[in-house]
Amino acid sequence: MMPRKKCIRMAVLSFAALFASTAAHAQAEPFPLGDVQKIYERLLQQIDRIPIYDNHSHATFPDDSDMDAQAAPPDESSVIRLRDDNPEFVAAAKALFNYPYDDFKPEHAKWLIDKKKAAEASGSTAYWDSILDKLNIETCLANRVALAPYLNPKRFHWVFFVDSFLFPFDNRDQTGKNPDMGVYIPLQEKVLHRYMKQEQLSGLPSDLAGYENFVRQTVADNKNRGGVAMKFEAAYFRSLYFGDPPRAAAEAIYAKFRNGGVPSEEEYRRFQDYVFRVLIDQAGKLNLSVHFHSAVGIGDYFSLNNGNPLNLENVLRDPRYKNVKFVLIHGGYPHTLEMIWMTAAKNVYTDSSLMGYYVYPSELKNILKQWISLYPERMMFGSDAFPFNDAVGAEETFWLAARSARTAIARALAELVAEGAFTEARALELARMYLHDNAAKLYGDAKWAAQHN
Ligand SMILES: [Zn+2]
Repeated sequence: MMPRKKCIRMAVLSFAALFASTAAHAQAEPFPLGDVQKIYERLLQQIDRIPIYDNHSHATFPDDSDMDAQAAPPDESSVIRLRDDNPEFVAAAKALFNYPYDDFKPEHAKWLIDKKKAAEASGSTAYWDSILDKLNIETCLANRVALAPYLNPKRFHWVFFVDSFLFPFDNRDQTGKNPDMGVYIPLQEKVLHRYMKQEQLSGLPSDLAGYENFVRQTVADNKNRGGVAMKFEAAYFRSLYFGDPPRAAAEAIYAKFRNGGVPSEEEYRRFQDYVFRVLIDQAGKLNLSVHFHSAVGIGDYFSLNNGNPLNLENVLRDPRYKNVKFVLIHGGYPHTLEMIWMTAAKNVYTDSSLMGYYVYPSELKNILKQWISLYPERMMFGSDAFPFNDAVGAEETFWLAARSARTAIARALAELVAEGAFTEARALELARMYLHDNAAKLYGDAKWAAQHN
C-alpha cells in the first residue's frame, strides 16, 4: 500500500499525461495532417445529398418584369465569371438540359431559348420545381415584386421590396444624380404606385399618420399573401447609415412635399430615415425578416462608401430591434470578414449569394472557411439565381451557385478536418447548417420544426 501523499501525486501525474495526449490530438495545426483531397471527396459525396434551402434568388423567366424592383443599367461593367463567354454556363446547360452544343452562338442558343419559352408558355409550376429537383434545392426564397403563378408557393417563398416607400416625393433630383439612378428611381416610383393601387389609394395620404398607415398595411398585406421577408436595395440609392430623426421632423417634411416641390438632399434623407424605422418596426411586429443588399452592386456608379454594410451597425446593434431578424445578403462582399462579425449579434444573419458566383470556388472556400470557424449558426447559402439573357437564365445560375457552394464548403471543411479542428461527422453537421438548417430555422419552416421539436 502506498503512502497516501504519493498516491495523489501519481494520480495527478497520470491525469496530466492523459490530458497531454488528448491535447496533442485535439490541437489544430496550421497545416494538413491528413489527405485533404481524400477527405474532400468523402465529404462532397455526402454534401451533394444535403437538400439546399436557398436564402436568396430571383427565380424567373427573363421577360418577366416582376423579377426585381430595379433593372441593370445599360452597358454596365460585368465581372469576368458572369460574362456570356464563361464556359461554365455551357456546362450548366448540359447538366440541366443535355444541351448538345459547346457554345452559345445564336443558332445554338436558340435550342435552349425555345425549350425555356415552351416551359413558360405551359404556365405550369412543374418546370421550376424540376429545376430545383435537379439541383437538390428543397426550398428557395424568391425576390420579386409579386409572386409568379408559375412558381409553386410550397417551394418558392416570397421576399418583397420596400425601398419604394422611401421615394414618395418629387424625385427629379434623385433621378438626375447619375445614369444608374435615372434607371432605378422611376422603377421605385412604379412599385410605389402599384402598392398604392393594391391599398386602393388614388393619391398620397393627407398626412404622415396616413402614410405610416399605408406603409404598415401594405407590409401586413404582403405578409398575408405569403411574404416571409422584406428587402431593402437601399445601398443602390443612398447610404446604409440610417439616422433616427424625431417624428415631428418627418411630419413637417411630409406636409411640405406631399403636394409637390423637390426636397433637399438633407430633407429627403431625414424623411427616409424615419420611414425606414417604421418599416423595421413593423417587420419586428409581424415576425418578417429584413433583408439588405449588402455588397458591391451592379452599375458603374455604385458607391462603395454608401453601400458599406458597416453603416448599418447602429441599427443592427440597437436593443430596440433585438427581436427583428436582419439578413445581410451577399455576405457584405468584399467586406466578408466584417460581415461574419456583424452576426455575433444573435438576430443578424448573412449569406453567400452573389459573391458565390463573383469569385471562383477556390476563393469562396477561403471566405466560407473563415465564416464557419466563427459563427456557423448564422451563415446561409444563397444563389442569387438571375437571368442574364434569354439563353443563360436563372436555371444556369442556380446550377453555378449551388455547384460552387457545395464544392467550396466541402474543401473548406476538408482542410479543417485535416488540420485537426474537428471530425468529419462534425464537418457534415456544419455543412448542413450552412446549406439548409440555419435558413429553415430562421424562416420557421414547418417541416424543419416538425423534425426538430
Ligand atoms: Zn439578388
